[in-house]
Formats: sequence, structure tokens, C-alpha cells
Amino acid sequence: MIETALPDRIAHLESIARALEPGAADRSALLREVNQYAEEFLESLPDRPAYHVTDAMGIGIREGRVEEEPPGLSRALDLLREHVDGPGLNPASGGHLGYIPGGGIYTSALGDFLSDISNRYAGVFFGGPGAVRLENLVTRWVADVVGYPDSAAGVHLAGGSMANLVALATARDARGLRGKDYQQAVVYLTSQTHHCIEKSLRVLGLGECHVRQVPLDDRYRMRPDDLDRLIVADGAAGLKPWLVVASAGTTDVGAVDPLTAIAEVSARHGLWYHVDAAYGGFFGLTEHGRSMLRGMELSDSVVLDPHKSLFLPYGSGVLLVRDGARLAETNHYEAHYMQDAKKVTDELSPADLSPELTRPFRALRLWLPLMIHGVAPFRAALEEKCLLARYFRHEVARRGFWVGPEPDLSVVVYRYIPERMRAPGAELDWPAVDRYNEQLVEAIRRDGRVFVSSTRLGGRFTLRIAVVVHRTHLTTIHTTLTVLDELVNQLGK
Ligand SMILES: *Cc1c(COP(=O)(O)O)cnc(C)c1O
Repeated sequence: MIETALPDRIAHLESIARALEPGAADRSALLREVNQYAEEFLESLPDRPAYHVTDAMGIGIREGRVEEEPPGLSRALDLLREHVDGPGLNPASGGHLGYIPGGGIYTSALGDFLSDISNRYAGVFFGGPGAVRLENLVTRWVADVVGYPDSAAGVHLAGGSMANLVALATARDARGLRGKDYQQAVVYLTSQTHHCIEKSLRVLGLGECHVRQVPLDDRYRMRPDDLDRLIVADGAAGLKPWLVVASAGTTDVGAVDPLTAIAEVSARHGLWYHVDAAYGGFFGLTEHGRSMLRGMELSDSVVLDPHKSLFLPYGSGVLLVRDGARLAETNHYEAHYMQDAKKVTDELSPADLSPELTRPFRALRLWLPLMIHGVAPFRAALEEKCLLARYFRHEVARRGFWVGPEPDLSVVVYRYIPERMRAPGAELDWPAVDRYNEQLVEAIRRDGRVFVSSTRLGGRFTLRIAVVVHRTHLTTIHTTLTVLDELVNQLGK
């Protein structure tokens, strides 16, 4: 193409590219249609199943292929309604009592909307000074919930798995672990630790480390005396103990490890002490939670997921490191093309605190709800969830179910042992009991009014509920009990 023809070609391309920037009238129309979809979804939530089994299981979404001719918003919303927001688990439902994250508060979605509209860059202070200060302000609030000192720093990541990954990288560097040490290095956790910890070790190249599962007490919590014993034995054998991972709210049973006692053992042996409070951390806003989580503030690093116990939509995990300089040491980098963005204040920049450079303005989705609602409704909701779990446990126990320990937070484990299998004096036919409970959980899923999940505890098939959706209330628990009553009657008492 000859250079003089360029302006014509450019103008032509512009006329097509401008479709990416709808005008005010078009924006209103788009927003109205999207809002109508959102309203329909939210208004129908109480009547929607928590789990919806369909034959197609979403296969029809393949009609939404990307093609040169765009089908348009209405068609796209139809496809979403039918094939995405229909089948499978509905995590927005109050009846979602299965996996831990769920819910999704509306005002947080508005925060996402605003941060996406302005696309404010919250990675480096130079680019978004106000946005970075806001992120740090919210981080400090989370640090206050934990009880960390002013030296702490933290960063908002996509979720607990990412936050744990960055925590372990920081722990590795802070303890001076080098490649030649990996085969001697030892990590201490329990069989109840979330699998993302071992996944992180592998992703970080630390897969060769020894991983010790510290024995549990009868409430599925780490035993600090056994931790101490294992560390001493490993040290005597010439190994390098370097990291303890405690859980503040385990996935299976919601147990909180004895955080203070573990802190003492870790400190005595000079190990990095990480607390995975992805699920449990924000229960620290309540009086009960604060007493359960005592000792969390003694850790070297901690992870809390706002998309769990602050009910945010998926996409928020916070990592805090007590000595914030450690976090920066592992993640700070300089590059020529970043020279304009050199440090100009003491305000830490998120890009220096995690592997991410270009990242969403994540703190806004947490800050905006806190500005609109204040802390009180979160605190009340968290206490309500703990009490719902306690109430549910009491009610299923009353119905003859086996129940696990009184919940530390908001998870209850239980299973049904049919009367016909409870031959007095005889050994239980465990495979038959397992099968019964497997059938029960499948029947609950097919029924769909509520969704509960299952796990294995001590090798036995076990049902669990985790109450972590802000829309779960007393009526939901009553529905769950009704569903259990009906299905146990069907399957045989
Ligand atoms: C959910 C959870 C994780 C993983 O976090 P994601 O946000 O799902 O990535 C890690 N640890 C615990 C204890 C959890 O509950």
C-alpha cells in the first residue's frame, strides 16, 4: 500500500472498530437488557434448584460459537440463561450448602462493574495512586481483623489457592531455602490441610520436600505435641524443617487447629508459620470466631478469602505477611520499561507484592460493599451461619444421624446409619452404610432443593454441609431437614 493511501484505509478501519465503543443510547439499552437478566435471575433465586440435573448438562452452549456475524446481546443472554445459568450447581443459591465458596453479594458485583468501567490500574502507585492506596487501606482492614502489626503487608489475589502459592514462595525465600536444600526440607501439615498447599509446593518446584502429616486429635485438629516431636526427630535426622501450615477452618469439617500452641512450637524451632484461613479467617469479625481464631495473629503469613466468608463473588483471596518486607523481597522486580513507575512513596504497590503485573482493581469489589453496608451485616451474617450449623447438627442428631464434633465454625459432618444395619452387639456393615449415604447424597442432588456435598472421614463416606452463602437462612435449614426426612423415608429408615 502506498503511504498516501494510509489515511483512507485507517478511516475505514476506524469506522468498523468504533463498534467497540457504543454511544450513550446504546450503552443504556445494553445495560437495561443486562439488568433485566440480572433481575430475573435474582428474583427467581428462591424458586430455583440449588442443583439442577439436566440431560444436556449445558452442551447447548456450543451454539454460542464465535463467528464473523455476531448474534447480539439478546441471543447471548438466551444462551446463558438456558445452558449456563440452568444446569449444575447454583452457587448463588441459599440452598448451596456444599462446597465452601458461594453466594456473591450484589454490591460487590457493582464494584466490579465500576472497576471494569474505569479500568483503573491498581498495580503500581505511579499509575493509580488512589487505587493503590485504596487497596492498601482495605488490606490494612483485613490485617486488623487478623490482628497483625503495622509491619504487615498484603495483596489481593484471585483466590485462596493463588494466595497460598505466593505465601509459600515468600516462606521459602524468607527461610533461605535454595535448590540444593529441597530434598532435605520438611513441611508440616495435616491430612485435613487443603490440597492447594501441596499443589503450591509442586508448582514452586518444592515437590521434593518431605511432607509430614501431623496426627490429629479427635476433633480433626493438629496435635502440637506431635508437631514438636516430628520436628525434633527430623532435625536429629539431619533434615531441614522449614514450614508449618495450620488451618483455620478445614474444608472437610471446618476445624480450627490450635493456633497459639502451633505458633509456640514453630517459633521454638525457627520455622515459618503459615495459617490457611481461606475459609475461616473472616469469622474473626464475630466474638465466637475471634476466640476460635486466637493465635492467628502470631503467624508469619495468613490467607483469607473474601469470596468465602465475606460472601463476595468468586475472585478474591487476600495474602498477608507479618513482615511485609519479606513479601516484597520475593516479588519485587525492576525493568527498563518500568522506569517511569519507580517508587515515589512509601505506599507499597501490589505489583511488587505478587507475581501479577497487570491485574484488576480487586479491592474495589470488597471496599464498595463495606462502604455501602458497613461491617455490622457481615458480622451478623457470620454469627448467623455458625448458629445455623449448630442448629442443623442438633436437629440431625435428634433424628438419629451420626454427627461429627460440634462445629468450630459453620461446617457439619453427618451420616445416616439405617436401623436395619444397627444390629446390637454386631460389627456395622460399613460398606453397606457407605452405599446408603452415597445413595442419599445422590438423591438429594436429584431432588435439587438444596445441595449438600460428601467427603470421606477416616475412610467412611460422610455427608457435610458448609453454611457460607449469605442467602442461607433458617428456612433453608428447615428445607434441608425436610429433604433429609423425605429421602431417608424413601431409602428406608
Ligand atoms: C477454599 C480453600 C482454599 C482454596 O482457595 P480458593 O479460593 O478456592 O482457591 C484453600 N484453603 C482452604 C482452607 C480453603 O477453604
